[in-house]
This record gives sequence, structure tokens and C-alpha cells, in this order.
Amino acid sequence: MANIPADLRYTKDHEYVKQTGDNASVQIGITDYAQGELGDVVYVDLPKVGAVFARGDVFGTIEAVKAVSELYAPLAGTVTEVNTALEGDPALVNKDPYGGGWMIKLAHRAIASSVMLTLTFHGHACFTLEADARRVIIDPFLTGNPATDIPLTRLAKVDAILLSHGHGDHLGDAVPIARRDGATIVATAELARFCGERGATVHAMHIGGARQFPFGRVKLVPAFHGGAVEGDTTGQFTTNPCGVVVTMGGHTVYHCGDTGLTMEMQLLAGRVDAMLVPIGDNYTMGIEDAVRAVEFVQPRTVIPMHYNTWDVIKADPEQFQRQVGGRARVVVLAPGDAHTLS
Ligand SMILES: [Zn+2]
Repeated sequence: MANIPADLRYTKDHEYVKQTGDNASVQIGITDYAQGELGDVVYVDLPKVGAVFARGDVFGTIEAVKAVSELYAPLAGTVTEVNTALEGDPALVNKDPYGGGWMIKLAHRAIASSVMLTLTFHGHACFTLEADARRVIIDPFLTGNPATDIPLTRLAKVDAILLSHGHGDHLGDAVPIARRDGATIVATAELARFCGERGATVHAMHIGGARQFPFGRVKLVPAFHGGAVEGDTTGQFTTNPCGVVVTMGGHTVYHCGDTGLTMEMQLLAGRVDAMLVPIGDNYTMGIEDAVRAVEFVQPRTVIPMHYNTWDVIKADPEQFQRQVGGRARVVVLAPGDAHTLS
């Protein structure tokens, strides 16, 4: 039985987080209980220095006589150091899990810099996210949006534009904003190509892919919806819609995009701080399915969107709040309202 230090925090997957002396990074390993359950550790596969993880990502695997297990990042951050001693002596994990058996050191965004992420709602499905003096906008439908609080001319400069899909109420002003601000549009490959051909700087991604940008990390995830791109008269840019998972300022936000309830949402369980979920029904989930989506994802905070823009997607956010009950904190934002995650 190892001495268990008092200054640790634990995850449900039995990783621990320990403060280091320099305050710039935290030390991560598995608990004494976990090493006991695993038995003799024979191999530990760890990431490279510089790798970036969101909270809940698999950062490595551990192989023991009894089982092989995945290791989950307890925090979002960048790997600053890896315990290379485990290559030659993986049993250090058994002998000294809180000392010589540590695995990685992670510069957690919340320690390294800001611990705040501010979300501002601009009506329908449009949000800006700000952290560490960087600003991105998701689904920038301002022009022609009856629910927005600001015209395009009053939108502050953004670093990037993230798109869930190509419908007009999401693609919106993406190309004009990209050209005005020199901002990059991040979207699925076909939609990115469409915007690129119209003079925007783009970065193409696709579902399942993640990438670290200067403003934060983006991962595209499945959404079930229509794939046509507004303004595409040729039909050659049809694409899969997606959800967008953004990690900035030490917080992870999941913008569901337009989607029905999907089993894939369960893959994000416990990995999301705030979930932006459509509740308007007709084109997307309604309240009942949005509540089930919250059950699937288990975010701390949930913000309803994609409702009351037009009569056909009329919904009562207070009813959504009541039905979510104790599952998550529901924050109802009027257009122009902001909410800070800290
Ligand atoms: Zn929509």
C-alpha cells in the first residue's frame, strides 16, 4: 500500500491529478487502487510531449497481466513532460503510483492562463466564444436573422468562424466575416471548399477529426440533418452536417448543430462542460429529445438554442429547464446575453 498524498484530485476512471511545485503543470498517473486492480503492469504507452488533449480524451494505454486499459485525460491541456522511466520499468506504476510511477505532466489551460470562457448568444444557433483574448463565432447567421441582437457591422473582430453545416441559418455571414477579419472558416471539407472558392481563408476538417488552432481545439462530431449548402446551385458541395466541440480557456463546449437525437452523443458523456442544444423541434430535436441528449452527454451547463426564431420552431425554454431538472444547470440566454464558464 503506497502512502496516499492528501493533495490529489481523482477521476472516476481512477486517474489522479497532483499539483507540481512550479504551478505551470499538473502531474497525472493512476491511483494506488487502480494499480492494485490491474495487477503487475508490463507496459505503458504514453503520448509525446506537445500532444494536446481535451478533458476525457484517451492519452495512453496501460497493459497489465490482467487487462489492458485506456488512460483518460482528467483535464484539458498540453503534455509538457512524459515519464520515460516507465519504458524500462513499467512496474514503477505498481511500486510508487504517486511518485516514480507518474505518467505525464500536463499544462492545464486553467492553470497556464485564463480559466474563463465567455459565451455570447446572438440568436438562433449563433454564439461567440471568447477566452485568452481570442474570439470565435459559431454559425454566424446575423443578416436576415429575425432573432439576432446585432447587425454584422457591430460584430467585433473574430479569429475564426466554426460552421456546423451549410444551411443559410448557419452558414449565414461566414464568408463576409472571414474576408472582413482575415479569419479562418473551419468546417467539413466540402463546405470549407465552397467558402474557399468565395474568397475565404478556410481549414477543412471532417467528422471525428480534431485539431489544435491558436484559439483552441476543435473536434467535429456527428449530427443528423440535411447536407445542402446555401448558395450552391451545382449541388457539388453537399456535405455531412456536424456538431462542433471546442476547447478554449480550459473549458469544452459542444455545439450540437442541427440534429436529431443520436446515440453518438453518448460518446461525449462526461467530456463536455457546456452543451448548446437545439430545442425548437420540426427541423431538429424538440424539448423531449433535447432532455435525452442532456442525459447522454451529462454536461454541467446546458444552453438551449434554435427555437423561437420563427413560429415553426416555437418552444418554451422554461419548460425545457423544468424537464432537465437536476441533470444539468440550464442557462437560458436571450439574444445579446452572455454566460461565463469559470
Ligand atoms: Zn438550422
